[in-house]
Amino acid sequence: MTSSKPLPLIAIHGGAGTLTRQAINPAQEAAYHAALQDILLAGQQLLADGGSALDAVSLAVDMLEDCPLFNAGHGAVFTHEETHELDAAVMDGATLRAGAVACISQVRRPVRAARAVMEQSEHVLLVGPGAEAFAKSVGLEMVSPDYFSTENRRAQLHRALAADKTLLDHDGAALASDAAPAPATETAPLDESRKFGTVGAVALDAQGNLAAATSTGGMTNKRVGRVGDSPIIGAGTYADNRTAAVSCTGTGEMFIRAATAYDLCARMAYGGQSLDAAAQQVVMDVLPTIDGKGGLIAVDAQGNVSLPFNTEGMYRGWARVGETPQTAIFR
Ligand code: ASP
Repeated sequence: MTSSKPLPLIAIHGGAGTLTRQAINPAQEAAYHAALQDILLAGQQLLADGGSALDAVSLAVDMLEDCPLFNAGHGAVFTHEETHELDAAVMDGATLRAGAVACISQVRRPVRAARAVMEQSEHVLLVGPGAEAFAKSVGLEMVSPDYFSTENRRAQLHRALAADKTLLDHDGAALASDAAPAPATETAPLDESRKFGTVGAVALDAQGNLAAATSTGGMTNKRVGRVGDSPIIGAGTYADNRTAAVSCTGTGEMFIRAATAYDLCARMAYGGQSLDAAAQQVVMDVLPTIDGKGGLIAVDAQGNVSLPFNTEGMYRGWARVGETPQTAIFR
């Protein structure tokens, strides 16, 4: 048997969530596929040109943050106080270096702040005003917090407030049963009020290195100061060349409690599980035991990819160099 080198590969997600079947608008669904496809093509090209997995995931998350269809960066959800607090992380599987930011509202591209923490500070996680001061000091583009606001997100917060409970943007079951439908936003394939609003990317490059990046606005009506799983290394984001690169989306508290991204890698390292077996197990078996909803994307150094989710859908796609990118939303 010849063991040929795996093709470089990128996978991305734009959040998991609940499908409202009557809400599916074919044109809008096509727009999501097209946006995912464009981002995959950009990442694929970078990898084809010999670029690193780290650069590929950074580029893909930059583009996902900028794309108004996805709820990270512009279009981020509102906290209970009608403010924004964004979280992001990046990890390099070759060196286990990692960087993350949490509770920031003035850095245009949170994933770049995470990467700067990794590369230009001696720390892993910076939060709030300190993270913003750091981002500014290294020359990142700063914006007014209004930059992230959209009227759909504001209406979503007001619906959650009217429901008089701490409804989480991605707690699909809660909103599905308790709140009025979201007319202004129901043109998206996944109901925006029942969707996990994170974006993420994982990649394998031609050198055999892995990387992961995740960025999020968090959850609608979250308490100010709340931090989700996305910027917690080992919970929402992890990468290790010896096992896998992982980016999660879902009910962050449960992903933190289950140490989901690291658990997947540990199952491969200690249990000898395949990437897909480990990914399926954490998403379909472990998370549901604590009511964890969502999914993840993962790649390993052999070029395997796994994209499980326990919700109705997850915006997702993957592309190997030289192959046509694949995109999907529902099961
Ligand atoms: N996991 C993210 C958080 O808890 C939210 C999401 O995936 O949409 O902040």
